[in-house]
Amino acid sequence: MGISTLATKYGFQNFPHFSTGRSGAKVDKIVIHHMAGTNYDIVPNIWQTREASAHYGIGKNGEIRAYVDENNTAWHAGNWNANITSIGIENSNSTGEPDWNINQATIDACAKLVADIGKRYGLGVLAPYKNVFPHQYFSSTSCPGKLMSKLGEICDKANAINNGTSKPNTPTTSILYRVRKSWADVKSQKGAFKDLTNAKKCADSNTGYSVFDEKGNKVYSSNATPIVKRLTVQVNGLNVRNKPSLNGTIVGTYNKGATWTLPKSEQLIIAEGWVWARCPIGYCAVGKNTGKVEKDDYIYIS
Ligand SMILES: [Zn+2]
Repeated sequence: MGISTLATKYGFQNFPHFSTGRSGAKVDKIVIHHMAGTNYDIVPNIWQTREASAHYGIGKNGEIRAYVDENNTAWHAGNWNANITSIGIENSNSTGEPDWNINQATIDACAKLVADIGKRYGLGVLAPYKNVFPHQYFSSTSCPGKLMSKLGEICDKANAINNGTSKPNTPTTSILYRVRKSWADVKSQKGAFKDLTNAKKCADSNTGYSVFDEKGNKVYSSNATPIVKRLTVQVNGLNVRNKPSLNGTIVGTYNKGATWTLPKSEQLIIAEGWVWARCPIGYCAVGKNTGKVEKDDYIYIS
């Protein structure tokens, strides 16, 4: 359906990492990202080398840019089926790591864009995990960071904008399965699902989380075996490169305490005498390749 009238083209499809068309699939969802970066203007130039892209990006002041035609498949979800069936929105951070804050203006513009897409594609009432998903639902990543707790607000605002064309929100009679660390730990909630299968999937991708019914009975616990490993940066100024090589372009830096997850099954990369790990915006050196964990490694993996 082309591009949203809310957006301005910027570096539009001037990078190789997207696919023409939708492989016959129908768009039925929106995937929310944060950039893990504060320099809005270098997106989409990053995608010249990095094998990724998104349809839209929203800046710190709420400006909306279009990077990829909605009729084409952007590479943003880390999951092909999700990519061909979704529209990806990147949101600029207002501060760097470890906080990666997001301005209210960005959130409000995101809600407007979600409303516009929802209306044009007939997605109906917009709701988290129904038709608006966080990136981490589809692949192991900390993305969309702070926006994890804003998905409800984005959907509520989008529904308010579309009011009149959308039906009233979820009937209170339907059971919602909530995914939390414990029933009492309300703040830990990752989502509320009408579909138990989706709730289980959410619990499975968040170690230590369980599914609770309306009354707080635990109906499912994720496997005790963690499916992700956590990487935590131990030094300040650790370069992030676009490939696992000292010749890779520096696309960002992390300071001590920056953290993200990777699938437990994902192998670290050994190149040029260094051990490398994927991170949300590229690749970081974990440390010298000595075959074991060293005290002076740049990244601690747990
Ligand atoms: Zn993302």
